Amino acid sequence: MRFAEGRVVGEHARRFTGDGVNIAPGRNIDPAGVDQRTREAMARGESRMFEAGFVAGGANYRADIFERAGDAWAITEVKSSKWPEKERDQQKKLDLHVPDVAIQRWVAAEAHVSVDQAQLMYLNRDCRHPDLSNLFTTVDVTGKTEPMVLALPAAVATMHAILREAEAPDVPVGEQCTDPEDCPFYDRCHEQLPPHHVSELYYAKKQAKKYEAEGKTMIADLTDAEAPNVAAKRQVRAVKSGTRIVESELAAALGQLKSPIVYFDFETVQLAVPRWPGCGPQDMVAVQFSAHREGFADNTHRYHLASRGGDPRPALIDAMVEACAGAASIVVYYEAFEKSRIKELAEWFPEREAELMDVHDRIVDLLPIVRDHVYDPEFHGSFSLKKVLPALVTDLGYADLNIREGGTATAGIYNLLFDESLDTAAQDALRADLLAYCERDTEAMVRLVGVLRDLA
Ligand code: SF4
Repeated sequence: MRFAEGRVVGEHARRFTGDGVNIAPGRNIDPAGVDQRTREAMARGESRMFEAGFVAGGANYRADIFERAGDAWAITEVKSSKWPEKERDQQKKLDLHVPDVAIQRWVAAEAHVSVDQAQLMYLNRDCRHPDLSNLFTTVDVTGKTEPMVLALPAAVATMHAILREAEAPDVPVGEQCTDPEDCPFYDRCHEQLPPHHVSELYYAKKQAKKYEAEGKTMIADLTDAEAPNVAAKRQVRAVKSGTRIVESELAAALGQLKSPIVYFDFETVQLAVPRWPGCGPQDMVAVQFSAHREGFADNTHRYHLASRGGDPRPALIDAMVEACAGAASIVVYYEAFEKSRIKELAEWFPEREAELMDVHDRIVDLLPIVRDHVYDPEFHGSFSLKKVLPALVTDLGYADLNIREGGTATAGIYNLLFDESLDTAAQDALRADLLAYCERDTEAMVRLVGVLRDLA
């Protein structure tokens, strides 16, 4: 899904930039061939190239956009993420992405090609479909690449030395695993940590690091007072005693759930390049829901999943309003997600605002009811449904389904709506898998509330 959307972003970036030669069309990305075709294009006098690159200094790269700028060249790296609004977030983006352009400048210099401009191109958060003329925003990072370019010879030499080793270096886990973003090897390195390691402490990343440095590596090494929030204190008590803790206020908290109840869950698709009116880059759009009904004369399960072609939102709104009609409480797990999607729908379709906000205002969030009243050692510091369910509803999981978690569902929806290579049979199979997954999410909430009532 990310590759497919990345290709769509690339195509738009080329149109946005203007005519040029694609040096590496399709899968024609052999570095030596790219280097040769780039040099040939330069010799022909081409002024703009896409996917141009060089092999030099023991490294190689391809630049998304490589264009002449006076006597030298300019490199632009296109990103599929939005340029953030806040300065602090902008700085984080630059910390993450400037090295990508710095290494391109360095390899070009090693290849005796002068690059004196470096830019990053991001999706513009102000762009709204159907006007995609302002889809991109460009940030000049020439100055920021310069100190990195100077540091690269030593860094590249170190990387080569590591690559020549037979074994991966033995580096302890640390801040580098999550900063500036989660390392793709995170699970591999952290799996080896024992259960109830201090890093599992709820909402306490910084404190956990401090305690680990002090030699308190396990949650059982901590006192209540050392846990930084109420849920973490309950976690410490539960782990130390090896038992599930249930607060006496749970019954009162469950009183927020008024019958009849609809247990509700959205699935979304997130498109880098917006396809539907009013949508911006990377907006999450609800295209599927499951609704289990309890306490109605008709408790049939309701659901909706978009079909390919056209704007999926009006039909989803119709089906959602109908499925939630008459519910005193609409129960979700982590309300910020569902409420945000509904508010966005109301902004896109102001004529449906009253109906949508009527659904929005009946939402009750199950997550804080669990978080503030129950801790089972098997939660392992997380109150996500995927952690809470196996601990509290032991006979209901996702293992029997073809789609077992949200990321796969999102990618499945993307393929269902946009992958032209899927034949009818494959679409039908994917649709069935998606419906089964979303239905399991709301069934899980029904069963979870049953267990919570028993515990209360
Ligand atoms: S998770 Fe990534 S950054 Fe952390 S130690 Fe493992 S490989 Fe290194």
